[in-house]
Amino acid sequence: MVVLLFMQNYIGRFAPSPTGPLHFGSLLTAVASYLDAKYHKGIWLVRMDDLDPPREMPGAADNILSTLDAYGLHWDGEIVYQSQRHDQYETAIQSLLANKHAFYCTCSRKQLATHTSQQQQTPPPYPGTCRKQNAPPNRPFSIRLSVEGTFQPMCINDQLQGRFCQNLATDVGDFIIKRKDFLYAYHLAVVIDDHWQRISHVVRGIDLLDSTPRQCYLQQLLGYNTPHYAHLPVVVNDQGQKLSKQTFAKAIETTQCSRALWSAISILGLKPPTSLQHESPEAILKWGTQAWTPKTLINVTRINATQITIDV
Ligand code: ZN
Repeated sequence: MVVLLFMQNYIGRFAPSPTGPLHFGSLLTAVASYLDAKYHKGIWLVRMDDLDPPREMPGAADNILSTLDAYGLHWDGEIVYQSQRHDQYETAIQSLLANKHAFYCTCSRKQLATHTSQQQQTPPPYPGTCRKQNAPPNRPFSIRLSVEGTFQPMCINDQLQGRFCQNLATDVGDFIIKRKDFLYAYHLAVVIDDHWQRISHVVRGIDLLDSTPRQCYLQQLLGYNTPHYAHLPVVVNDQGQKLSKQTFAKAIETTQCSRALWSAISILGLKPPTSLQHESPEAILKWGTQAWTPKTLINVTRINATQITIDV
């Protein structure tokens, strides 16, 4: 397996957070990342982003994995659990602190809220208060990454959404990489793990587009390559609401996998024959792999799912 990984030039992944069972929106992300990987004869990994126990639901990780299996979304290699990788995150944090790219922040919520309310326009970024704090203070602290050195906008060329730029200093500010409650932040963990797993292509939901420049900055600081990114459009219902936990987020059933998969690949812009609805999930994914083209999703930021029967 290790040898195989080294020879691969496409390694993709699906990285769910086990905050609940898979819903239709997350199935779409899984399917798109799977099809893109398989179309490119690549490897498709699944990583469990179980970084935040208070937000997790007991049993959700296993439930997600068995649902993926039922949908024919069989992953390559072993599942990586972020909960097992704290040492690696801590090592990176220590090196960022040592290089003065990160600092200890002791600001209270109240202080930060006061700063925000004093600004007239858009919410301002972190004011930089603790940037000089390089030794561990003896009261609760978070660790922030300083974006002080970023004068130029950070840009990515997203394979679906085109060029996306963000000025980290004015739009984002110094951001948290380790929380006051000792939990590691998503941005840090995702960057370290994507690098460690040699991920070459990230296919994920458009809600994470906005986080990508921060992740690219971290990649630069840690000396990592930046993978290719493709951010999928958000799927909305007739009222324009996102298919999210609040709206459409009922858990997907595993009794009608084929019909749900058929809907998923239709939403992703493919035109599967109706008869395929009665085939096995594996057969549908095989058809999808051959037919895959994300062309129809280019520059699309939202898809109205009600034009396609979602019977899940
Ligand atoms: Zn602070």
